[in-house]
Amino acid sequence: MEDCIFCKIAAKEIPSKALYEDGQVYAFYDLDPQAPTHFLVIPKQHIASALEVTAENSAVVGHCYEVIAALAKQLGFDSYRVVTNCGESAGQSVFHLHFHVLAGRDMTWPPG
Ligand code: AMP
Repeated sequence: MEDCIFCKIAAKEIPSKALYEDGQVYAFYDLDPQAPTHFLVIPKQHIASALEVTAENSAVVGHCYEVIAALAKQLGFDSYRVVTNCGESAGQSVFHLHFHVLAGRDMTWPPG
């Protein structure tokens, strides 16, 4: 989608620090890490937020979780947090569905 920063990152029009890529998803390190390890997993297709997940596009969400599990194992984490902010008041700033993966420190609950 034009003017979507994560579409541009997935298309390599904007540089990022890649971690994993296949035909459906792209994983890259967050620019502003909130944990010792903080990366993002995004579908390559533009889905604006979790609110836009439907029966037609939900397979890629399952694939994102498969990729997250594989990357966590590869990086040596058996404990990590996956976060998806949905909507501005929940903290979403980039309107392209993404899964934050945070690891390498103890997490608190509830999140702020
Ligand atoms: P959210 O606020 O939940 O929508 O998350 C967006 C995330 O994207 C934030 O953690 C940002 O630090 C991250 N981010 C924004 N631009 C970039 C970029 N060019 N490369 C890597 N991460 C980015």
